[in-house]
Amino acid sequence: MVKEYSDSPVYTASNGCPVMNPQASQRVGENGPLLLQDFHLIDLLAHFDRERIPERVVHAKGAGAFGEFEVTDDISDLTSADMFNGIGKKTRCLARFSTVGGEKGSPDSARDPRGFAVKFYTEEGNYDWVFNNTPIFFLRDPSKFPVFIHTQKRNPQTNLKDATMFWDYLTQNQESVHQLMHLFSDRGTPFSFRHMNGYSGHTYKFTKPDGSFRYVQIHLKTDQGSKTLTNEEAGALASSNPDHATEDLFNSIEKKEFPSWTVYVQVMTPEQAEKFKYSVFDLTKTWPQKEFPLRRFGKMTLNENPQNYFAEIEQAAFSPSHLVPGVEPSADPVLQSRLFSYPDTHRHRLGVNYQQIPANCPLRAFNPFQRDGAMQVNGNYGANPNYQSSFRPVTYKTTCTSHDAHEKWVGTATNFAFRVFPEDYEQATALWNVLGRYENQQKNFVSNVAGHACGARKDVRERVYEMFGKVDKGLGEAIRKKCEENVGALEEAMKKAQPRL
Ligand code: NDP
Repeated sequence: MVKEYSDSPVYTASNGCPVMNPQASQRVGENGPLLLQDFHLIDLLAHFDRERIPERVVHAKGAGAFGEFEVTDDISDLTSADMFNGIGKKTRCLARFSTVGGEKGSPDSARDPRGFAVKFYTEEGNYDWVFNNTPIFFLRDPSKFPVFIHTQKRNPQTNLKDATMFWDYLTQNQESVHQLMHLFSDRGTPFSFRHMNGYSGHTYKFTKPDGSFRYVQIHLKTDQGSKTLTNEEAGALASSNPDHATEDLFNSIEKKEFPSWTVYVQVMTPEQAEKFKYSVFDLTKTWPQKEFPLRRFGKMTLNENPQNYFAEIEQAAFSPSHLVPGVEPSADPVLQSRLFSYPDTHRHRLGVNYQQIPANCPLRAFNPFQRDGAMQVNGNYGANPNYQSSFRPVTYKTTCTSHDAHEKWVGTATNFAFRVFPEDYEQATALWNVLGRYENQQKNFVSNVAGHACGARKDVRERVYEMFGKVDKGLGEAIRKKCEENVGALEEAMKKAQPRL
């Protein structure tokens, strides 16, 4: 749908000079060469040549919308964050949903985790949630992240997605098995962005000015109901409407069917964290809901489509390090690395002044020590001193609070490599049992893994069966049976496809 306007502005070149006819290039005679003096044409072509910015290395394909977060329940006992302070308080936000591994033109229905990022424009600065639609992730050491992502993308030689690469990595790094259970369950192909939950995955800290804190995990549960696609439906949509989820989000907001999510927090005291079976800094683990019940505190509603996709969604720059007083990162090593890596990629993708882009711009910021740089467009703090000057006193607000023993770190510098332990399979088994509560979900899981792993080499397939056998013996065997059937059928089909001499 193309928007209609009633006004008719004067067309100009980029310098504002009116242009009589944008389709009339300056040239010598009717058939002669073009003139370099035609600023309009040269500028138009030169700008076109530079239209693309680097696509995100991960989460390249996405859609987004603006909305609001409303506090529904008091959590002032947990955090002093201004935006959570006062039932009924509303904060404007921008959400962006995405797939992870595919390129910018890849289908929305791909089997992949979904990014679930939200930027809140709060009175105390921008606060970002850079979440996923799964409560855990494939790894707990950030050094594995780029390597892992390579295996989900394209083979460096063939430029093809490669099932052998995919499973070769994952079977050698079996802390990923819990996330694989999510990825190959029906939730690995959500029906749309509106019909999926969001999870912080990482443990964060909610803090109070008195220095006390709680470890927290945040959950956004879809009010539209969790709805998924089968593997077959996802495959069909990939060809019939690869932008299905993007379209669904835009159209539902245009129709004023505003999607919303109820927001909850799981809370753990530092003392509980010490006694918890798993490390709260381990991104491959969830907190059992029976032990750490969800506590409702808000609702997020998306009610405004962007006016311009590139300006507001492509240029949106989320980071887990965009925090506000009352919220702090935990020592989760993957979170710690993301605190660095997200702003780093924004500096590369959008430039060092990415926070000045309107979609990223906080309600107010005063940071005159950061000056100049490419695309400095907000006045560059004018005549303000660029150092701590006695001629322009600034007010410093106390925001950091000192914590107890959980913030005193002592240790020897070491190269620490996580190992995989039997307990790394426990929550994968728990999820396998959750799938068993629903009709067909275990069956679909087997079929989804078998449908993918049948493209891998035989020795790698054997490792796949062995890995899922540790989750559930019957599961490993069921995948083996289905997968080898698929391999046989593929080989048969290949034989038939051979040209007859
Ligand atoms: P519970 O039985 O208390 O919780 C199970 C949770 O699983 C539900 O609350 C639901 O979370 C989620 N779930 C339900 N159906 C599916 C499905 N088809 N696919 C994926 N997730 C589903 O047990 P636990 O808290 O002990 O968790 C058991 C397992 O459930 C975990 O190992 C984990 O993999 C998974 N899980 C746990 C979550 C947690 O925070 N504890 C969150 C999500 C999944 P929701 O309402 O958020 O959809």
